[in-house]
Amino acid sequence: MMEQITHFIAGQRDAGSSTRSSPVFNPASGEQIAKVLLADQADVERVVASAKAAQRAWGDTSPLRRARVMFKFKELLELHQAELAAIISREHGKVQSDAFGEVTRGLEVVEFACGMPHLIKGEFSDQVGTGVDSYSLRQPLGVVAGITPFNFPAMVPLWMLPVALACGNAFILKPSERDPSASLFLADLLKQAGLPDGVFSVLQGDAEAVNALLVHPDIAAISFVGSTPIARHIYATATAHGKRVQALGGAKNHLVVMPDADLDQAVDALMGAAYGSAGERCMAISVAVAVGDVADALVARLADKARALRVGPGDDAASEMGPLVTRQHCDKVRGYVDAGVAEGAELVVDGRALSVAGHEAGFFLGACLFDKVRPEMSLWREEIFGPVLAVVRVPDFEAALSLIGEHAYGNGVALFTRDGDCAREFVRRVEIGMVGVNVPIPVPMAFHSFGGWKQSMFGDHSMHGMEGVRFYTRLKTVTSRWPTGIRSGAEFTMPTMK
Ligand code: NAD
Repeated sequence: MMEQITHFIAGQRDAGSSTRSSPVFNPASGEQIAKVLLADQADVERVVASAKAAQRAWGDTSPLRRARVMFKFKELLELHQAELAAIISREHGKVQSDAFGEVTRGLEVVEFACGMPHLIKGEFSDQVGTGVDSYSLRQPLGVVAGITPFNFPAMVPLWMLPVALACGNAFILKPSERDPSASLFLADLLKQAGLPDGVFSVLQGDAEAVNALLVHPDIAAISFVGSTPIARHIYATATAHGKRVQALGGAKNHLVVMPDADLDQAVDALMGAAYGSAGERCMAISVAVAVGDVADALVARLADKARALRVGPGDDAASEMGPLVTRQHCDKVRGYVDAGVAEGAELVVDGRALSVAGHEAGFFLGACLFDKVRPEMSLWREEIFGPVLAVVRVPDFEAALSLIGEHAYGNGVALFTRDGDCAREFVRRVEIGMVGVNVPIPVPMAFHSFGGWKQSMFGDHSMHGMEGVRFYTRLKTVTSRWPTGIRSGAEFTMPTMK
């Protein structure tokens, strides 16, 4: 019998009422290993009703007690980190060390959420008028939902749910249907940590479930991470239905190599950032911008390393890069390589012929490296989300900066140089949300916030850090006066004037 991946509603696994499902594959073998249920409208109604009923008491629970659940959850995640990493690797394909790292980055947000009593403690002003005090507090929104992509099945939900829950909300997770098992593992750990039933739910599904959540009157906010066309749709629909929305989209991240950069360091950085997780990272580097005469040496060294990259199944410790997530996605990425060749870019390393012994039916594509890519080519314009690195040659720093500025996306960027003056100028002028200086993948820590600019994010609040706390709470400001003032009869001037 094929394993069936269910929802998690009111504290337990739940098969719901829909009869639709979607296949889940092991990308390394190419085999279907399970099927995941796809929620219908009735399932959405049930999950929202259960979350709404549970949220009232959870929102009234003291922040300290809510934080204690997060402390316990953190302990459990640490204990089961390897198990969760194996689940991720099995359905996503990424190598297990990378999956382990993904869980670590998620754990850091749980650690941040453990400090919630301090983070939401509000402000107090004594004596704003005679006998009058004023204070502000942050209250939960109610029921909130998170819709997440396939590429980080644990980390991206963990950007959202620890902060949302510790702020006193109920959270409904709609994970990617391509690798849905990690979400149920997180649900089990949260239950073991003492989270009351219904406060966290998992709703498996596709567009039908998402579209029902976007318009549901009992959902106060939507967090989304995924591709830009869907992010735009999520933002437009959910805001039109009165919801608070943060919708993070796609990316095309550049790494600029200045002529004075340490070339070995830049090449190693590019290898990990371009081919790690088979390029299926929103912060992956997909464009290397070679400034001035650095290009020939850069391409030669990259080519040697790309040819030597060890590609294999995620559960083999020797693999540096695993397969792509599905056959369909693998074919799409291959199509971009074909198009790059047809458009006249120089394919220096061609990974299309790669076959992994013993895994011939897996969704593998070897590392591909293009040189002399120009801005009019699809290789530069579009997000490929695969192991394809494009080198663009530019004459100088200004040309590098304007190339990046012309791109529709604005998620991450990096500059490799030894010149502090140049680095400072770059950081100040570049129109990108997350910037690395001699750091290829500048993913902000949990106590800072993650979010891009331009077509990489719709909405005003980034994820986690104080931006996350602001997103998942609403501000209430109270002005209060006790008996002396109240006894003095009606007043027609402002109390703060006295
Ligand atoms: P996707 O947009 O296809 O799917 C994301 C989520 O939206 C999934 O849960 C999916 O079920 C749902 N969805 C898909 N089509 C929908 C539709 N028509 N209507 C409503 N919901 C729909 O993205 P993906 O392929 O899972 O993930 C890869 C994308 O995510 C890449 O573009 C990547 O850059 C992006 N991403 C961005 C960030 C970031 O922080 N900006 C982080 C990770 C991934």
